[in-house]
This record gives sequence, structure tokens and C-alpha cells, in this order.
Amino acid sequence: MRIATLGLSHESNTYAPVPASLDRWLAAGPVAGDALVAAFAESDATPGGYLELAADPDIEVVPLMHYRLTPMNAITAEAYEKMVGHMLSELEQQGPWDAVLIDLHGAAVSEDYRDADGETLRRVRSLLGPGVPVGVTFDMHGNVSQKMIDNATVVNTYMTNPHLDPRIRGRQVADLIVQTVRGEISPVMALEMPPVAINILRQGTSDSPMKELVAFAHEQATRPGVLSVSVAEGFPYADVEEMGMAFLAVTDGDPSLAAEIAKVCAAEAWKVRAELEGDGVPIDDALKRAAAATSYPVVLLDVGDNVGGGSPGDSTHVLAAAQRLGIRDLFHSLCDPGAVAACKEAGVGASVELEVGGKTDDLHGSPVSITGTVRLLDDGKFEDPGATHGGFRFYDAGHRAVVETSDGHTVLLNSRPLGNTSRQELISAGIDPLTQPIIVAKGVHSPRGAFEPIAAEMIWTNSPGCTSADLSGLAYQHRRRPMFPFEPDATY
Ligand SMILES: [Zn+2]
Repeated sequence: MRIATLGLSHESNTYAPVPASLDRWLAAGPVAGDALVAAFAESDATPGGYLELAADPDIEVVPLMHYRLTPMNAITAEAYEKMVGHMLSELEQQGPWDAVLIDLHGAAVSEDYRDADGETLRRVRSLLGPGVPVGVTFDMHGNVSQKMIDNATVVNTYMTNPHLDPRIRGRQVADLIVQTVRGEISPVMALEMPPVAINILRQGTSDSPMKELVAFAHEQATRPGVLSVSVAEGFPYADVEEMGMAFLAVTDGDPSLAAEIAKVCAAEAWKVRAELEGDGVPIDDALKRAAAATSYPVVLLDVGDNVGGGSPGDSTHVLAAAQRLGIRDLFHSLCDPGAVAACKEAGVGASVELEVGGKTDDLHGSPVSITGTVRLLDDGKFEDPGATHGGFRFYDAGHRAVVETSDGHTVLLNSRPLGNTSRQELISAGIDPLTQPIIVAKGVHSPRGAFEPIAAEMIWTNSPGCTSADLSGLAYQHRRRPMFPFEPDATY
């Protein structure tokens, strides 16, 4: 049995300042062949689950290619055509295939295709024809569409946020696809999309009510004849028709059972829709609370600069407020390649005066003046073998500099946008997260895997930015209407 594995993973924030252009995709380092295996086989990311099939002597897993890029605005038309074209030509040249496994995000938007993942699957299906099983694993933030489902054989999503189970969910799809090829099962799918968007602050799967909704779906998955049940939380920062929650059931040849399960799961979510809304703490209040804490570290989540959701990673709203309030002892990272270059020029031990961050757009604050001492310069590469969001292992922040400021902060300057999802990010830069009083983490749920185990307290701030928790400021043109919470009277 020959199975191709592919990936094209992008979460597109249509409110973000920077487009996902071809040069950025190429700089992020697409991988193919042995490099794909090296990048993922030992990771907890989705392709790690697909590659596990290679342990079966009857199966040849061909690692064709994998593209992945940090969330930003839509994929440019040029980049989309180039990458999908590459994918299709490799599929054609290296085939025939018994099956294909694809790691897609589910919230990709391109300039030409609002449902870019649906379009990718349509093209793959039309190349392969109807007889070749196609398995897909989406991120839990996917905005899942009927077009995606219609062009695949088995689809599931992660069921954890922070995402700690991509490899497990990848393996589930891979196993179901192998069983399909062997003629042991005949998967059918049903998708249900209740008109509800979940606030980013309510998406954690260890918190109510997501915890119970996920448990309910897992319970449904144990019914006879059911192969898989998924809950997609959706990604509210993509202005697309399919934006919102979705429930997906896969059964063995029983379409009415699949439809019933997708519907009962959706109905459970609809019942608790009011609890799926939420608000963060104003920045000043969050900082004062952190400064008054008696046990540390306090982790302050910069929700509006959620790099994993498409923000630029250079928001200065929290740092500027700390300076204004005279609050000390923050660990704060910023993407600012120019400031890193200035630190390199000055050298370790030198005193520097810098204007840092706030340079991408008007949404994420203005540059902040800092004076201090350069304590570290490095290439920004670090590795985290532990459990982190998305299951990634190798990180690259570009060249970095650590500046100890004269007002008591530790500022980590990166050359590439990077959310704070790994304790190794700090440790590799000589910063002990256990003794750091206040850690500002750019993210919402993605930093939880790293910091919740050590945090005395986690505080989600209502910081402005293109991933702000306050969705009322987003001008949607393409979402469904009516939809809860935007139209509170929406019915389902
Ligand atoms: Zn996600």
C-alpha cells in the first residue's frame, strides 16, 4: 500500500497586517522527503501521526511535502497557485497512490479562494478521481465547510486547545484511511454548522463549557458504527462564510447516524452558547493584579497580540502600560529585527537606547523607548521536546537579543514573530521562567501548555490588536447572518 503525506497549513487572519506571500512561505522552510520525516517523525504534530503508518511492513508512506507558515493575512494568489501546483504535480508524478493523507489547517484563506482548504481538496480530489481515499486532519480552529467534506473521505480535527493531540488525531485518520483501502470500512461523513462563534477566551478545552462539549463528542464516538466525532471551534478572525463552530461525525456506511450525531453535538453547543462568550481583564487592572501578587510567576496573556492567531508579535500595549504605571519585572518579547541588529552592533554588555516594537501597524501600539544592557545575542534556534501547543519541537525566532532594561524588565527581541508557547524559549535565552515575576505571553491558549504548570496565576488581558478578544470591532462582510453572538436573537 502506497500512501502520500502532504501538508499545507495556514490559519489566515483576514484582519492581520501582513499577507502570507510566497517569500514568507519559502523563508519558513517547506520540507519534503527525508527533511519532512526529520521535522515531524519525532514531533507531536499531525504528520507525526501519519508517519507512524510506516511501522507497518505492508505500507509505504511517501513524505511528499509540507508547507507551514505562522498565521498572518490571506495567502497571496501567487503563493497559493505555486504551492498547490507543486503539490498536485508531485502527486501526479510520483503516483499512483492507494491513499493520500493531508495536514490542512481548515482556516486557510487565499486572495482568490475564501475557502482555500476546500479548494485545495477539490483540486486534489479531481486529480486523484473518486476511488482514492483522502484523509484530512484539521486544526481545532478550522472553519470547516461542506466543500472540504465533499472532497475528502475521512476528516477529523484536533480535540484539544491548547493543541496537544495533533499526532493522535493524525494517527486516527491514518488508521481509518488504511481500513478504507483494505475494504474493512466505508466511511460517510456529516457536518453540522450551528450559527455560533466562540470567543477566543472560551476556547480552552479544559474549561467549561468546551470541556463538556468535547466530552459529549467523545462519548458519541463510542456508539456502535461510529468511526470518529470532531468538534471544530472555528476561527473568528477569518471573515468567511463558514466561520464558526462545526461538528463532524464519521460513521461506517450510515449517513443518518452521522447526521444525527453531528446534530446532537451541535444542539449541545447551542444550549450553552451564552457561556461561549467572554471578556478579558483591562491591561492596567491585569498589571496591577500581577504586581500585587504574592506568588510567582504571574502569566499575563497578551490576547490582542496572539502571534498564533495572526498578530505581528510586536505589540507594545502591555509594556507601555507597565512603564506608565511604574510596574517592574516583566518578561516581554517583541519581534523587532531592527532592534536586534542594533544590539548586535553594540555587542553583549553594551548599554543601548532603543525604540522597540509597535512598528507593524497602528493596531498594536507605538514604539516604546527602553534603555538597558545587552545581556545575550544568539541565533534564536531552540528545541522543546516537551508537550507544547501544536506538538512542534524545533523553533526559530531568528537572531535574538536580550536587553535588561534600566526600569527592571527583561525584553527579548526576536527577528521573527513568535508566540510564547515554550518555556524553552526563555531557558534557551538564559531566563529562568520559575523566578521571573511576571511573564507576558503573546497568545491565548497556545501558551497554556508551557506556562500553566508553573504559573501562580494566568490573567487574560483585553489588549487591543487584530486578535483582540473583543469581536465587536471586526467588520465582517462574509460571515453568515444571523449568527450568535453578533445577532443575539439568532435561532438554530
Ligand atoms: Zn489552532
